[in-house]
Amino acid sequence: MNLEEKVIALKEHQKKLKAYNHASSLLFYDASTSMPPGAAQSMSDTMGVISGEIYSLTVNPTFQTLLHDLYAQREMLDFQTRREVEELHLEQEKMKEVPKEEVIAMEEAQNLANYNWETAKKTNDFSVFAPHLEKLIAMKKRYATYINPGGDVYDTLLNEFERGMTKAQMDPFFDALRKNLVPLIKVVGEAAQPDTSFLAGPFDIAAQKALSDYVMDVMGIDKNRCILRETEHPFTIEFSKDDVRITTKYLEDDLTSNLFSVVHESGHGMYELSVDDALRFSVLGAGATTAIHESQSRLWENYIGRSLPFCKLIFPKVKELFPMQMEGVTAEDFYRAVNVAKPSLIRTDADELTYALHVMVRYELEKRIFAEELSVSDLPAEWNRLYKEYLGIDVPDDARGVLQDAHWAGGAFGYFPSYALGTAYSAQIYEAMRTAVDVDACCEKGDFAPVRQWLTEKIYRHGMLYTAEELIEMTCGAAFDPACYVTYLERKFSTLYAR
Ligand SMILES: [Zn+2]
Repeated sequence: MNLEEKVIALKEHQKKLKAYNHASSLLFYDASTSMPPGAAQSMSDTMGVISGEIYSLTVNPTFQTLLHDLYAQREMLDFQTRREVEELHLEQEKMKEVPKEEVIAMEEAQNLANYNWETAKKTNDFSVFAPHLEKLIAMKKRYATYINPGGDVYDTLLNEFERGMTKAQMDPFFDALRKNLVPLIKVVGEAAQPDTSFLAGPFDIAAQKALSDYVMDVMGIDKNRCILRETEHPFTIEFSKDDVRITTKYLEDDLTSNLFSVVHESGHGMYELSVDDALRFSVLGAGATTAIHESQSRLWENYIGRSLPFCKLIFPKVKELFPMQMEGVTAEDFYRAVNVAKPSLIRTDADELTYALHVMVRYELEKRIFAEELSVSDLPAEWNRLYKEYLGIDVPDDARGVLQDAHWAGGAFGYFPSYALGTAYSAQIYEAMRTAVDVDACCEKGDFAPVRQWLTEKIYRHGMLYTAEELIEMTCGAAFDPACYVTYLERKFSTLYAR
């Protein structure tokens, strides 16, 4: 084969890989949204088989030779193809070290763990989940040793989600947040609190669904290519740039949980829907990194969604849907109430100010688990102790404590830190966006086309063509600086609580 033929074979391979991943994601989505409970084992078996096929596609000898050749000639390729070769080569070098049985066993164990985590959470019984969690941790330790022999296990897992990220980089980042945010949270906690009584409900679920619909329209997400469903834990999953599914959870006694979940997941969804057409069948046709992805959902959720102009825009609809609950309430009251800063139990419902502390608890625990300093049986008690220490609150049960998130059940250890990092990225991206786009005017008009265009131009369209570092540099004209995030929070919350 000459170089041109090799490139054609590479593109064909990526198309096939995309199709297998499409099928695998669809099964995961079905298992989370509509599978009958008795189907967990057979679904898990099927997903194991598909994982095995994806593995074989990645490491089969013919493809290894092709990729090896193309990697050696990468300087002769166009930019996109070169980046595809680099990504696939990196993945292949890693995966060929992991035995196929281990990959299949991990996929099956994750699916079973996920199912048992749901039961454990519903019944508030950590012991249902504990043996599955133990098994997954042991498997992840083995996995890290396969792909990075002799390396630090937790650093290897962090790198899976945010390339180049290590404990040595994350520790000072979290230290900076702790140093600046903890005193601010204390000041805010001692100030007069806004009235939030009108957010206690009950809120009719059908009316909340109408609000979700309205908010997706306001943001301008393409419903022809994106649908909303319900799951225990809201998420976004993309099958192609024409098919993105987002999920939410409705609570009768909490209006903001669904409202901001929909804004958040729509932010993730919009990113995937706006990746350039040239990357449609490419391995690069997805969000750059987990933290960059999170920066896009947080930008919509917090920086736009929880701003006064956005609250003013949507409040007439909120009032129309919930006239009794919103009787005598103004848009400003609504804005202050949705921004109440108060230490709470659930990360996904946390306010902007205390959010990073929830992530810090998980980061500390993960570090200690993988350093063999903490056992699964001691995890609930340590969780509760850290919530008391960082957030000053008592955790009443494991369902609202250690069992609240789906991540560990999915084997995603090392994922949580990217939430805090992404939120900090978005402060800097938002600042850059405001120099080019009049976001307040967009809120006044209810037209976010300029915001979507700017984000598409700077971030969305590039997919994985650039690293997180390069994207931040290109978008903001400077390297990542957590001070933007701290300054933003100080400014917003000292103004909100200065009354
Ligand atoms: Zn997210």
